[in-house]
Amino acid sequence: MTSFLSFKKQYIALGMLVFIALFFFNTRPASIQCQVPQLEELPASVASTNSNLPTIYGITPTYARLAQKADLTRLSQTLMLVKNFHWIVIEDAENKTPLVANLLRDSGLKYTQLNIKTEKEKAKKAMASGVEQRNKALEWLRGHLRGLSEEERIGVVYFMDDDNTYALKVFEEMRKINKVGVWPVGIVGGMMVEMPIITNGKVSGFNALWKPFRPFPIDMAGFAVAANLFLEHPEAKFSRKVQSGFQESVILNYFVKKEDLEPLADNCTKVYVWHTRTQKPSISKAGKAMTYNHIEV
Ligand code: UDP
Ligand code: MN
Repeated sequence: MTSFLSFKKQYIALGMLVFIALFFFNTRPASIQCQVPQLEELPASVASTNSNLPTIYGITPTYARLAQKADLTRLSQTLMLVKNFHWIVIEDAENKTPLVANLLRDSGLKYTQLNIKTEKEKAKKAMASGVEQRNKALEWLRGHLRGLSEEERIGVVYFMDDDNTYALKVFEEMRKINKVGVWPVGIVGGMMVEMPIITNGKVSGFNALWKPFRPFPIDMAGFAVAANLFLEHPEAKFSRKVQSGFQESVILNYFVKKEDLEPLADNCTKVYVWHTRTQKPSISKAGKAMTYNHIEV
């Protein structure tokens, strides 16, 4: 009698377990059942397109150095979160390198890889970097835009140095641009923040301390330009003939007057981009003596 009872108890316990298990799997809310994407899937799935949004063309000159891959990795992983983004990366090099080629390919981003080496003579004469590289990108961009319909052509051009820090909000802001949009840039020009001064919703001046006599005393990271303006002004390009700090003024002079600038980032009251600079790493003598041909750093 006792053994019969315990046998029945076992069945009841088993039945209850099956019931609980079934109940649990069937009633879990959808949000819990949904799978978190695997890391490997992220680039392709997040760098998505939405035809209603203007395309952002990010133009980034880059050159070989110890922290190049680290800087480009950080930047590319920000860009993976930006919709309708096309990254134009121009290497300051004789040839395209496998390091940049691999990084771009593995990023899942939409990209164009270009290269042009700055002649040593030119680099010495003027302090500016990235002049030939940005011009090469503009040349490519014009050809690309001409091949698009008017609707597809709607876009914004942003000159993005490879070691700056970009908040996602800066990309949201620049999609509102009609001609040229401006916003504050953190940690630049010897200041905590360099920014346009706004009066009644218009740019009335700039707070810059470094070379305030520049026509547009703002950093490259502090503005973006409607893509069609580069077709309307096919002559617009950067120049080696100006002193350092004047590249921004050179390009903006083709398109706008100060009064036409469109203040973004809440009337230029928010910082969404920082002119950070990666410290040059120091490798010890013993460290330099070791070669690493088998591993990309
Ligand atoms: N750059 C380049 N060739 C050089 C030096 C710099 O292509 O010889 C690129 C660099 O990768 C960056 C941009 O030009 O994207 C601006 O350079 P950097 O960040 O060194 O300038 P800074 O921070 O001093 O404004
Ligand atoms: Mn920099």
